[in-house]
Amino acid sequence: MPLTCTDILAQTPQGLYCALGDFHIDPIRPVPRALITHGHSDHARAGHGSVLATRETLRIMAARYGEEFAATTQAVRLREAMRIGEVSIRFAPAGHVLGSAQVVVEAGGCRVVISGDYKRAEDPTCLPFELVPCDVFITEATFGLPVFRHPDVRAEVRKLLDSVALFPERTHVVGAYALGKAQRLMALIRAEGYHEPIYIHGALERLTELYRSEGIDLGDIRKVPLGKRETLPGSIVLCPPSAMQEVWSRRFADPVTAFASGWMRVRARARQRGVELPLVVSDHVDWEDLCTTIIETGAGEVWVTHGQEDALVHWCVTNGIPAKPLHMLGYGDEEEAGLAPAESAA
Ligand SMILES: [Zn+2]
Ligand SMILES: [Zn+2]
Repeated sequence: MPLTCTDILAQTPQGLYCALGDFHIDPIRPVPRALITHGHSDHARAGHGSVLATRETLRIMAARYGEEFAATTQAVRLREAMRIGEVSIRFAPAGHVLGSAQVVVEAGGCRVVISGDYKRAEDPTCLPFELVPCDVFITEATFGLPVFRHPDVRAEVRKLLDSVALFPERTHVVGAYALGKAQRLMALIRAEGYHEPIYIHGALERLTELYRSEGIDLGDIRKVPLGKRETLPGSIVLCPPSAMQEVWSRRFADPVTAFASGWMRVRARARQRGVELPLVVSDHVDWEDLCTTIIETGAGEVWVTHGQEDALVHWCVTNGIPAKPLHMLGYGDEEEAGLAPAESAA
């Protein structure tokens, strides 16, 4: 009997599972063998037997969970096919954060692409998303509603820099997630011509250092000096979102609170968090890029892992592409979940 795509990948309580190769992809519970798309805490968890991922993702996991995060690890080279059991696999860039990749699984002439989280907008800190034509495309739908149309990130960064120019006596405290968002913001701020030191909260230090050690130029980055917060008027300070609610952020000179997230498109969310300057900067595709990507892959079938699944499934079906929601639990945007355990203490 010929293979069908469902023979290649099935849903289990641990996550997506490939029986022909005996491995899980981004499992939410410890498994013997895991393929990991990227370092965000909802996809990359500690405690697996063996982990196969890009070298950068393995470094990120070690930085977040400690060197012992898995019994064994193996780094894959992007675009290089390898055999696991009866399937062939390869990793392709996802454009989401440093080291992020889509996993391509092939057997019996059927190709399945598990995109993980991905985006197609500008990000100087990681390789751009690479389109892989496939039979089944498995996608997230974090921003899977037509209302989500992310603006140009450069324009959002200019909003921040305009505000800094307008209020030279105030500190701009910007909430940004520790893995990816913070470093992307730094790189974009530099690309817009701002070369003053950018100050960071201690919780952003380790991953920022890791990005720099991978050759990503972020300019002059300094840790906020202890007890000298009131002395940073006119500066930009980046911190994890959790720190924005703390006394820590209120000690700066008349702070302007900003927050960089795709969710800032929703005004109510910005208000809820008391954000004065919402910056719509997302590391996920918006509605238009989501639909375009699905069409470009030429996929004959789409599976939606999490997010606004019903809206996207409806769009697919309306456009003649069979689709199904997987209603997978355990994934959410790290943007909601916050920091990895190792960082929340920092
Ligand atoms: Zn992610
Ligand atoms: Zn995610």
